[in-house]
Amino acid sequence: MVPTPITVRVPAKVNLHLAVGDARPDGYHELVTVFQALSLTDEVTVVPADEPTIEVHGEGADSVPTGPSNLAWKAVRLLAERSDRDPEEPGVALTINKGIPVAGGMAGGSADAAATLLALNAVWRLEMGRDELGALAAELGSDVPFSLQGGTALGTGRGERLVPVLARHTFHWVIALDKRGLETPAVYGELDRLRGESGQSRVGEVEPLLEALASGDPRQLALLLGNDLQASAVSLRPGLRRTLRAGVQAGALAGIVSGSGPTCAFLCTDGEAAVRVAAELSGAGVCRTVRVAQGPVPGARVVSDDRAD
Ligand code: ATP
Repeated sequence: MVPTPITVRVPAKVNLHLAVGDARPDGYHELVTVFQALSLTDEVTVVPADEPTIEVHGEGADSVPTGPSNLAWKAVRLLAERSDRDPEEPGVALTINKGIPVAGGMAGGSADAAATLLALNAVWRLEMGRDELGALAAELGSDVPFSLQGGTALGTGRGERLVPVLARHTFHWVIALDKRGLETPAVYGELDRLRGESGQSRVGEVEPLLEALASGDPRQLALLLGNDLQASAVSLRPGLRRTLRAGVQAGALAGIVSGSGPTCAFLCTDGEAAVRVAAELSGAGVCRTVRVAQGPVPGARVVSDDRAD
């Protein structure tokens, strides 16, 4: 019998609110964040195979590891261990098609790990529920549970403790991709440095933003977007200031650095405005490329499963 591949589609995330607490003794920072899943996606295909391999195609594929340090492969090993399989010989091959910018602050690696958990659950017929997969996801990384869940959610702890948030209507975004990625630990390091130096200002309480999401009014939401990592991302990559300014000049309601950056996300009034802003921004020469996206969208989900049960 020819083994049937399972393909899972998984969204990028943007943080609408990212409040970073002080560094804990374990080096992590306590977060209060609001994630929204966007229609910028990766696809991960898992197929039973004698030879364990990993192939990466698409957006930024050259800078993604194809060995054991790939987060998707860590997901294979973890699920193999927990289901009494040999993590060295898991008997699967992975193909990742990237649409999420690599090292862009949009949780691309986490997305692939979440997609892999869901795909393997089907390939190995483990029948784990979302809660069980969510617990494994949290072991793999702070953003992995949200990649599985999608929608809009409030995250606390390291971002892995999630509560769904009501978001009325669809929000329209323009995403500006930078030429090179930024490493997340470097951006947190810069935040600690800036705070030590000058006591950086911090984003406010999250409640007003939750109300704006519930109202569905993008103008109200635009006033409340906030990211404590923005100043450190801009400090490491000063050109981002120009990108943020150009998006607003092109007609966006507001612009924000996504997570640890360097990707910038611009909130627009509606879909037509987003297309106009994207066109103008791509002509401004401030970023590598521009995409239009919507949110919220669902989390990781199987998009092909042709097996006859
Ligand atoms: P986050 O927003 O979760 O902090 P990010 O979106 O900034 O992460 P990723 O795209 O997840 O960044 O990549 C971060 C690093 O992880 C990259 O330098 C890349 O080499 C490595 N990496 C490992 N596995 C993957 C993967 N499956 N896809 C992308 N990058 C990966």
